[in-house]
Amino acid sequence: MTITADARDLQDDLIRLRHDLHRQPEIGLELPRTQERVLQALDGLPFEITLGKETTSVTAVLRGGTGSAANGKGKQPPAVLLRADMDGLPVQEKTGVDYTSRTDGAMHACGHDLHTSMLAGAATLLAEQRHQLAGDVVLMFQPGEEGFDGASYMLGEGVLDAAGTRVQAAYGMHVFSSLEPHGTFCTKPGVMLSASDGLEVTILGAGGHGSAPHAAKDPVTVAAEMVTALQVMVTRQFNMFDPVVLSVGVLHAGTKRNVIPESARIEATVRTFSESSRLKMMEAVPRLLKGIAAAHGVEVHVDYQQEYPLTITDEDETHTAEKVISTLFGESRLSRWATPLSGSEDFSRVLAEVPGTFVGLSAVAPGGDPATSPFNHSPYATFDDGVLADGAALYAQLAISRLAALSTAS
Ligand SMILES: [Zn+2]
Repeated sequence: MTITADARDLQDDLIRLRHDLHRQPEIGLELPRTQERVLQALDGLPFEITLGKETTSVTAVLRGGTGSAANGKGKQPPAVLLRADMDGLPVQEKTGVDYTSRTDGAMHACGHDLHTSMLAGAATLLAEQRHQLAGDVVLMFQPGEEGFDGASYMLGEGVLDAAGTRVQAAYGMHVFSSLEPHGTFCTKPGVMLSASDGLEVTILGAGGHGSAPHAAKDPVTVAAEMVTALQVMVTRQFNMFDPVVLSVGVLHAGTKRNVIPESARIEATVRTFSESSRLKMMEAVPRLLKGIAAAHGVEVHVDYQQEYPLTITDEDETHTAEKVISTLFGESRLSRWATPLSGSEDFSRVLAEVPGTFVGLSAVAPGGDPATSPFNHSPYATFDDGVLADGAALYAQLAISRLAALSTAS
């Protein structure tokens, strides 16, 4: 196969694009500069481009050369989808790289700049092979992965049917700045990433003088008890082999040491690895918090918000990806995870609709220690450009191989 060599020829362009994106990270659903840069990268390539209505997404459809001709009876050729997310994070970059973020308080700390660049590279590779492609390819350049549910907007605007037919497979990729040695591709059939939910709790007591707590209703001690009780609940009510993670990230109360405040606030993230645990948490958490509040005679408002579902990859599609990885890069570059990762992804929404898989790619510096390198979302997280060409080649080959198999099967 020459696709890896063709991709290597693009390496300088991919690095340039990645660095441009890295210098100007944008957050959320509105990424106008990023969108413009993606359109520039696709300029001159034979894609049908649709821009998001509610967001700055880019959907680009490539019509394969052999699909409709081979079918000959007006039958729609098969289509597959490749997805890259494009947004940055509200993190102050501290990496010291020479292409560091020029935007104060924003950073591509999750490597989405690499995803965007790799998918743009795949666009070029696929366009070069257009006439051999046995169907259509939909490129999904998505904003707002980091908590804004950008995938939902694109699904709502019809990304899965952008080629005029429902895509039959979908593939996404994610780089990591640690975990595995440089250049390792990671797969896992089934549950690959946790579901993510959010918890916002307001405890309403009665303020008073710190010297006379009996005349007040102290929300601070109740909040402290709730934080601990939530951890105890996780260990006592949930099966240790179906893990649940609950982390309190916000705990606010009070203004002065001798004033008992009116209220206290807790916010937490909840990660679960099965639908049953997820549903059980949705019942158990409010029950526990309301019980504690009632016991202390204070009021509590519990807002339990469902965020991203479990990322569940299709077994066959994962095997397809593993085969492609082994053929392109050799078995030694493949790591099949035994356990899921406790991160979450809105690509889960795509995988809930169509079969597909998600592939991890280690972009730790060559020779860097995967155990100690700062992980994604850290202000010190660095992602090595050396993986860009291979990532682009994998995206492209996944589409080429899957379309070939789909067209012979139909
Ligand atoms: Zn990410």
